[in-house]
Order: sequence, then C-alpha cells, then structure tokens
Amino acid sequence: MYDLIIIGSGPAGLTAGIYAERAGLKALVIERNFMSGGQIIDTYEVDNYPGLMGINGFDLAQKMREHADQLGVEFKTAEVQSVEDLGETKKVKTPEETLLSKAVLFATGAHHRSLGIPGEAEYAGKGVSYCATCDGAFYKNKDVAVIGGGNVAIEDAIFLARTCQKVYVVHRRDQLRAQKALQDKLFEFDNVEMVWHHTPVEVVGKDGKTSGLLVHDKLTDAEKTIDVSGVFVAVGIVPNTKGYEQICALDNNGYIVAGEDCRTSAPGFFAAGDVRTKEVRQVATAVGDGANAVASVERYLNTQEW
Ligand code: NAP
Repeated sequence: MYDLIIIGSGPAGLTAGIYAERAGLKALVIERNFMSGGQIIDTYEVDNYPGLMGINGFDLAQKMREHADQLGVEFKTAEVQSVEDLGETKKVKTPEETLLSKAVLFATGAHHRSLGIPGEAEYAGKGVSYCATCDGAFYKNKDVAVIGGGNVAIEDAIFLARTCQKVYVVHRRDQLRAQKALQDKLFEFDNVEMVWHHTPVEVVGKDGKTSGLLVHDKLTDAEKTIDVSGVFVAVGIVPNTKGYEQICALDNNGYIVAGEDCRTSAPGFFAAGDVRTKEVRQVATAVGDGANAVASVERYLNTQEW
C-alpha cells in the first residue's frame, strides 16, 4: 500500500515525487514514457524558469529527474488503465498489476490539440508535425507553415525561421496571444510572413508528402493554397483527463477542478500542473503545484479531512 501514487512525470509530478520523498511518504511516480519531463521535453528553450535562463527543456527535465533519482524516488513506467476510488483506498491499474494507495495525484499534463481538417491525419509524420523542435531539422532551407498564435506557435516559428527558407504563420485573428517578448523576437526575422485572419482548411499533398496548406480568408471568404513542405500545428493543448470524470469534477474544457491546494472534488485525489484548472500554465506554476499538492496530501493522510 502506497501513501501516494503520482500519475505523470512532468515538472509537477517530478516535484511532487521529490517533496513526497523528502516528507518520508511511501510514494510512487508512474510515467507513461521512458523519458520524464512531459511537455518540456519538446521545448527548445525555457527562458522563464528562474535561475536557469535559456535552458533547453530536455535538459531541464533531465535535471529534475536526476534530482528525484538522487533522493531515491520510486518510478515505474506503465500506462495507467484505470483509477478506482474505494474510499480510503485507491486502486490504480496498469496492464501488469493493480496498485493500491491512500492518495492519488493526477499530474498527467496535456497534449497537442489537432485541427481535425482533411489531410491532417493522412500527412501526419509526412509533413504535418506537432513539434518543431523534434522535426524542424527536416525542413532546413524549405518553406513551412505554423498554425496558431499562442506561445508555442510563435516559439516554433522563431525556431523554424532560423533554418527554414520561409515561415508562414497562419493565425485566425490579427493579434497574437503569445507573450510580447516572443512577438518582438519573431518580427526580427525577414523570412517570416504573417497570414492574418486565415484558418486552415486542408493539408494538401503530392506523392504521399505534404505540398501545401489550403487556407480560408475570414475577411474576404477567399481560399488559397500556400506552398509548403511542412505544416506545424500549434493550436493549443488538451488536458489528459480521459476517464477521470468518473472520479472527480472536470470543467467544461476537461481540466480537473482544483485550487492552489490541488484538492479535487473527490477525497484523497489531487491534481497538479497543466491538468488542473488554473490561470497560468508554466513550468514554474507546475513545480509550485507539485509542492502544494504534497503538503495537501500530508494534511489529508494525517487528518482524513476533506
Ligand atoms: P494557446 O496559448 O492556447 O494558443 C493556441 C493558439 O492556437 C491560439 O492563438 C488560438 O487562436 C489558436 N487556435 C486554437 N484552435 C485553433 C483552430 N482550430 N484553428 C486555428 N487556430 C486555432 O496554446 P499554446 O500556444 O499551445 O500554449 C499552451 C500553454 O502553454 C499556454 O498556457 C502557454 O502560455 C503555455 N506556454 C508558455 C510558454 C512560455 O511562457 N515560454 C511556452 C510554451 C507554452 P486564438 O488566439 O484566436 O484563440
């Protein structure tokens, strides 16, 4: 019987593991991939995590994991199949075993939203990508399109502009959601062209590879095809909460409803990081959640109060 099972090993889960270990709890971190770090693994540069300016996301994840390993945090690689609330005991099932715990922390993060347009699935991995830092190198000296206007889209566009011949940023409005510092950096590149007020309609291909992106002009209703060999989709994230609606309350967007103390609507269940309802989803706030969650877990284990 564990005191705490932490599902997910992004910054929130890793921090919770570190805090739980230091608090003397019998804790387990279950991670789906062999690589800890969650979404930051794919982040080229994390420029706003205090003390580690400009660090590569992969390196930051490694550092956090090393910290957890040095303290002796227990990890298991497995895909959680189901979580069950048996009252004081919680049951977590993986394909190999059934684990029992007094408390469970959901730190499962989020994943890339897809566009759902024709050609997107067909050309995924053949020109359509959701990770510029992973796939950008394949498009050196080529023309690419980035879809979206948030931090991720603009970071991707900056990253790609350094090596690609031309980067089209396709955005459905004429204002970017991304931080001003990122916008300023983007506009320094003369190989970036903003395609304002356009929505993607179809990824078009030739000979089994992406050859263009059909876009719709919201102002004139006209359609045109931008000739590109890569389409980078960066239109937001979706929380990884499938099945959790059976356990605790989710909001309209699928995030687990939980405040700063990370307590969900169900006693003994906690949520930390991008998966919970919050204003700002950043590494810094995920790490804060990991620490807060363990403090709440300790309180719960000591008092059983909810
Ligand atoms: P985001 O901030 O939600 O931005 C998504 C973008 O995609 C928005 O510009 C949105 O347009 C657009 N979009 C959404 N659905 C679309 C559709 N169907 N078709 C076309 N465009 C669509 O998501 P994100 O950029 O993936 O970032 C996720 C979170 O991580 C955010 O909270 C972000 O701040 C954070 N983050 C922070 C940093 C950093 O601080 N360095 C880096 C990376 C990520 P509208 O603007 O019109 O809604």
